Amino acid sequence: MENVIVMTNKENIVVSACLLGVNCKYSGGNNYCEKLEALKDKYNFIDICPEVLGGLSTPRVPSEIVGNKVINKDGIDVTNNYLLGANLALKKALENNCQRAILKANSPSCGCGKVYDGTFSKKLIDGDGITTKLFKDNNIKVLTEEEI
Ligand code: SF4
Repeated sequence: MENVIVMTNKENIVVSACLLGVNCKYSGGNNYCEKLEALKDKYNFIDICPEVLGGLSTPRVPSEIVGNKVINKDGIDVTNNYLLGANLALKKALENNCQRAILKANSPSCGCGKVYDGTFSKKLIDGDGITTKLFKDNNIKVLTEEEI
């Protein structure tokens, strides 16, 4: 009998962990996105949660970008956590040869093109999350779940 070797040649792609149903959102919940299921045949998902990677707990006080800092709703500067998380997420993406990412829209880490304006009033302004910006600077293409 002839042996059959099955070759899989799926592309690795970074995905925000909360979109895959991981309860890493600031509230303790997730942002499960059913649309991603259809991509599983074509891609290996490399999950990242930059805020958890950066040492923040879950649940946690929500944060927004204010100028070149990230400040939580209690007024604490959490910029260093966000920068650490972004760098560790980038490391994981590069180690897995990822050239593309699907990240959660509007988040101060993962948002792409639009982020909250820093007033905690659900208003969006143009801008990228801290991780998204670092990914783009390293030639990783970012889409949000709203664009797939
Ligand atoms: Fe989801 Fe990104 Fe926020 Fe983590 S940092 S909960 S992956 S949006």
